[in-house]
Amino acid sequence: MTTLPFTFEPLPTRVIFGPGSRDQLTAEVQRLGVRQVLVLSTPGQAGRAGELAAQLGDLAAGTFSGAVMHTPLRVTEQALDQVRHLRADGLVAFGGGSTTGLSKAIALRTDLPQLILPTTYAGSEMTPILGETQGGRKTTRRTQAVLPETVIYDVELTLTLPPAVSASSGVNAVAHAAEALYARNGNPVTTLMAEEALRALSQALPVIVREPQNPEARSQAMLGAWLAGSVLGSVDMALHHKLAHVLGGTFNLPHAELHAALLPHTIAYNAPAVPAAVQRMARALGTRDAAQGLYELNRTLGIEPALQALGMPESGLSQAAALAVQAPYPNPAPLEERALLALLRRAWAGDPPQ
Ligand code: NAD
Repeated sequence: MTTLPFTFEPLPTRVIFGPGSRDQLTAEVQRLGVRQVLVLSTPGQAGRAGELAAQLGDLAAGTFSGAVMHTPLRVTEQALDQVRHLRADGLVAFGGGSTTGLSKAIALRTDLPQLILPTTYAGSEMTPILGETQGGRKTTRRTQAVLPETVIYDVELTLTLPPAVSASSGVNAVAHAAEALYARNGNPVTTLMAEEALRALSQALPVIVREPQNPEARSQAMLGAWLAGSVLGSVDMALHHKLAHVLGGTFNLPHAELHAALLPHTIAYNAPAVPAAVQRMARALGTRDAAQGLYELNRTLGIEPALQALGMPESGLSQAAALAVQAPYPNPAPLEERALLALLRRAWAGDPPQ
């Protein structure tokens, strides 16, 4: 195979990986040269965020535990008030994509340095992407201004992630890696990373669902999530991420579960246009057919396959298909509204991909 010319710009984020690596938090905050950080979390992880703030001692200005899904501007404004009130000059985000989103939204408006401790597999900490919502509308931007300075991947922080959330968040990461394999601006490095992410996640997630405390599987999944987040941050995504964005934003469906339910169908849609990429995907997933393999992976993980069970109204399917072809974006297979509607109908019913 000839290697085509390419451009690759590695992301500058410093990554610390390993069990117990949260012990390096104080040293890493000092390394950022900040005086006092605000520790961010969701309401559900407020207690653990408080423990981290205690671990930081004088380096912590306080906590803000109001992070929620889809980064609503209203919450960002509350957190910004807290930043100003406490005179925080740095951010520590403890949590999944929702908390990281809040941290990025604050950084965008203040330029404060960010240190992220991810506790799910969403991968947002490795991307220059920020999605925000206001008045029910989601907008996404790509800017290096939101890229965190430091990420500490401590696998021990994921041990409490419930099996169902681990599964859907893990398949969200699988989706990043899958679409990276046919990205128009992909390159040999992102392809290697994406393949390894798919291998690691598809092997580790079934073990995690059975044994949530298994340290090797948790480590493997976290490594996969890091690689998947890195490729999401480096190359352009296509139909799958576009549909997830449209459905998530318009019908307020749960992010990770939505990605997982859609993925077998979007890959089946694109497969004829990119046979070599889906062959790689199948190989990494250890299956003969990538789309069927992804559908089976969801079943093994106990993931809900039907969009209707996630709250998608049947009456919204036509609107979703129309929205998905509205603003043009790069995709290997041609975007046809009728074919997309058929895809969405199958995903809505939870049928296998075609
Ligand atoms: P999340 O951050 O909302 O977390 C899901 C739930 O799990 C929350 O209730 C949280 O409190 C809980 N939780 C998280 N970690 C836990 C742990 N270790 N133990 C126990 N409970 C835990 O969900 P998510 O899937 O990580 O993130 C979804 C959000 O991230 C969406 O808003 C999505 O748009 C965004 N996202 C952004 C990017 C990007 O690059 N910008 C990438 C992926 C996802």
